[in-house]
Amino acid sequence: VNTKLVVIRYGEIGLKGKNRSFFERILKKQIQRVLKPDEEVHHDFGRLYVYTQEPLDAAARLKEVFGVVTLSPGASVELDMREIEEAAATVLASALAENPSIRSFKVEARRSNKAFPHTSPEISHRLGAFLLGRFPSMRVDVHDPHITVGVEVRQRALVFGQVIPGPGGLPVGSAGRAGLLLSGGIDSPVAGYLAMKRGVMLDCIHFHTFPYTSERSVDKVRRLCSELSKWGDLNLHLFSLTEVVEAIKQSCPEKLTITIMRRFMLRIAEAFCRQGRRLALVTGESLGQVASQTLESLYCIEHAVSVPVLRPLIGFDKTEIVALARRMGTYEVSVQPFDDCCSLFVPRNPSTQPRLEQVICAENALDVQGLVDAALGTRESWSYHRRGQGVESTRWQ
Ligand code: ATP
Ligand code: MG
Repeated sequence: VNTKLVVIRYGEIGLKGKNRSFFERILKKQIQRVLKPDEEVHHDFGRLYVYTQEPLDAAARLKEVFGVVTLSPGASVELDMREIEEAAATVLASALAENPSIRSFKVEARRSNKAFPHTSPEISHRLGAFLLGRFPSMRVDVHDPHITVGVEVRQRALVFGQVIPGPGGLPVGSAGRAGLLLSGGIDSPVAGYLAMKRGVMLDCIHFHTFPYTSERSVDKVRRLCSELSKWGDLNLHLFSLTEVVEAIKQSCPEKLTITIMRRFMLRIAEAFCRQGRRLALVTGESLGQVASQTLESLYCIEHAVSVPVLRPLIGFDKTEIVALARRMGTYEVSVQPFDDCCSLFVPRNPSTQPRLEQVICAENALDVQGLVDAALGTRESWSYHRRGQGVESTRWQ
């Protein structure tokens, strides 16, 4: 029986003992979410295999699973030289169909099942000769081939061709949970993507200022979550910041508006994260991009909370962020026009060097705890799940 499959290789660094099986279990779960109902994932000797009718199509979906280092479409066949030859010919033919400029190949055989009568060099040799006969325009190049046909002899023989790079990283969920402060802009979705890439499962937190901002701006955030959930299931929590913003506008110096508003965002997010096991906050801030992203500002903002604030974009230039946003899929949504609470309440000249004492003094005019508690009470929550190619969202509170 010839079964088509995708071979999945994953990182092994730091994966020892208990850690390893934990990692593998989570990776398997993350792989399952991109599979179609007739596809299955199996685990065997430090590899994962996805059995599928359409290896190339499955490979394209598996490229969106963090923790996958490389993958190869291929087949599993019975331990029979004829079967192996035919499978290798199929692998080479489909690689050629994808990329007609392939001219040279080599065969790399590994035999871990010593019951098979041919040694690894014999298999490579026989298979090489067979493929040259079948594909007369190809040549063998053992040093720098365009494609390597891999054969692994185990209980069955695995035959695979091209090695496709996966996204790398760690499977989502293997590093625990964090809250992502998600605006409708370009940066925060990219920050969320990078956190997910390191295994973090996200609770996205968005602050709206309805009725000053429209339902459309929240729709945009929903669409961002839908795109982002391609990389990992996530939740979206909407909070109203309206009361906070009104109170700030009424009682605090205008040039500190942004700083104080950001401090409230962090406080509300932190209080929410304490309700579950969410151990950090993630933001899309990068250094020096706008007035609120100077070191002085970040210092004043972060001082409001004690939870770690992760800023994956801190060293990125805007052009680099944009390039990544395009690649991971949120750019198109982010550039749609929207009314952000910040753009509505942003003062003409926000302070780039707020002083913490002044900020704290200004906040004395506010009922900080009361405002945070009230904002927590406005929460609406949604979850985004990917199944195969589609995303479902459901409201849970
Ligand atoms: P972005 O493109 O992510 O909006 P930005 O460069 O426009 O980032 P700011 O608008 O100053 O920067 O926001 C800094 C960070 O604060 C954002 O990356 C995001 O993490 C958080 N943030 C801003 N506005 C909101 C909001 N309405 N709800 C939740 N988080 C927000
Ligand atoms: Mg913004």
